[in-house]
Amino acid sequence: MTTEFVEVLIIGAGPSGAVASSYLHNQGVKVKVVEKTNFPRIVVGESLIPRVMDHFNEAGLFDHLDKQGFEKKKGARFIRGKEICVFDFSNKYGEGWDWTWQIPRADFDFEITQEMKRKGVDLEFETEVISVSFEGKESTTVVKDKNGNLKQIKAKFLIDASGYGRVLPRLLDLDEPSKLNPHSAIFSHVKDVNRPEGEEGTLISFDILETQVWLWVIPFSNGNTSVGIVGPTEFINGLSENQDTKEALENAIQLSDYYIKRFGNVPFIFEPKKLTNYSAAVKNLYGDGFALTGNSSEFLDPVFSSGVCFATESGMLAAKLAEREIKGEIVDWETEYADYMKYGIAVFTTYVREWYTGNLQELFYHQPENPDVKQKICSVLAGYVWDKTNPFVAKHDNLIKNMAHLIKMEREAKENL
Ligand code: FAD
Repeated sequence: MTTEFVEVLIIGAGPSGAVASSYLHNQGVKVKVVEKTNFPRIVVGESLIPRVMDHFNEAGLFDHLDKQGFEKKKGARFIRGKEICVFDFSNKYGEGWDWTWQIPRADFDFEITQEMKRKGVDLEFETEVISVSFEGKESTTVVKDKNGNLKQIKAKFLIDASGYGRVLPRLLDLDEPSKLNPHSAIFSHVKDVNRPEGEEGTLISFDILETQVWLWVIPFSNGNTSVGIVGPTEFINGLSENQDTKEALENAIQLSDYYIKRFGNVPFIFEPKKLTNYSAAVKNLYGDGFALTGNSSEFLDPVFSSGVCFATESGMLAAKLAEREIKGEIVDWETEYADYMKYGIAVFTTYVREWYTGNLQELFYHQPENPDVKQKICSVLAGYVWDKTNPFVAKHDNLIKNMAHLIKMEREAKENL
């Protein structure tokens, strides 16, 4: 078996691995990425949030991505029957990007890796990690290429950005059950032949069919639109008796008064894919000589499109800390990595939980709108979940719950008049 030596080895070329490896390569670190599949490959995660732009920019990937003409996402719309709540990222509290993209991930991730290769990042497709062992902080990773050939890669630091592959959580027994209730999703793309002109056609929207059940509509600049249904696993399983994903997604679209005409009779571009009980967590986000980033660490829920943002936030931070460590600095991974990431995860976990209890929906649809509250929530939805000057970040634990309680009391008082 041949042996290669690198400073940092990264498992997976999704957004997390791409941002981490591009950053390290730009800093002159000897980095290598091994990716199991060949791109383009289908993966979910098509609605981004503005904070990711900071990461793609810092990784030197923004300019290339910006040239691709992906659909600009300037906000998001939440539909509930006749009630509509629109967030506009240009009208949010605090600093930060006020737009991002809605993207077919196959094309987006492919473009990223093309740019990485053009810049000289050492990236091997169709190379799967089989095993990992550690001697102190140094790791030896055995990989298998598409012809079945094995080789080992020795690295001073290992970043596991393997997404749903969850390589190190599996190999090192780091998996932990998620604290969120089991939810599932079914999605596909359609040729959006009934797309209306203007903003109505391109605005990313979430149609709330029941408190815990929603349909996503993510229009792309290539004329296709992603349509997906999310809800408690029991509900999603109940959409088709035979667990036929096509029938289930067709039935879900029939439940949407808003979108039935646009998508009711349009064929799916690929067999709808089902993702069951997707939330995941880990015991530790790092260990001696390694860090877990992106979906290989925690994944919450798609409702606020936080997945890719956490993937790039953690990928970028792990890369910076790994660079310092291999240069001989002492890094306090607990405070500098785990505590930081866990704070953002905790804020978003509250928003996800309070969405599904219905409390956050009380705030979204309360009339008349409170512009101050809306701007501050908008900043959270844009991914700025570390800005503790925002009370909707700093007091996330109680604020939503308490405000929803007041709104409900006010409504009950009016009803009793
Ligand atoms: P990935 O993008 O999964 O990339 C990991 C890579 O590692 C893959 O290419 C894989 O092939 C490779 N790999 C795996 N195993 C190995 C191995 N053994 N060896 C080598 N390589 C390996 N997020 C959003 O931001 N917006 C959304 O709208 C959104 N919608 C979602 C909807 C649903 C239903 C779900 C479940 C998730 C959604 N997400 C969304 C989350 C999003 O999919 C992920 O958070 C994001 O893709 C994570 O990026 P990543 O780089 O960590 O992993």
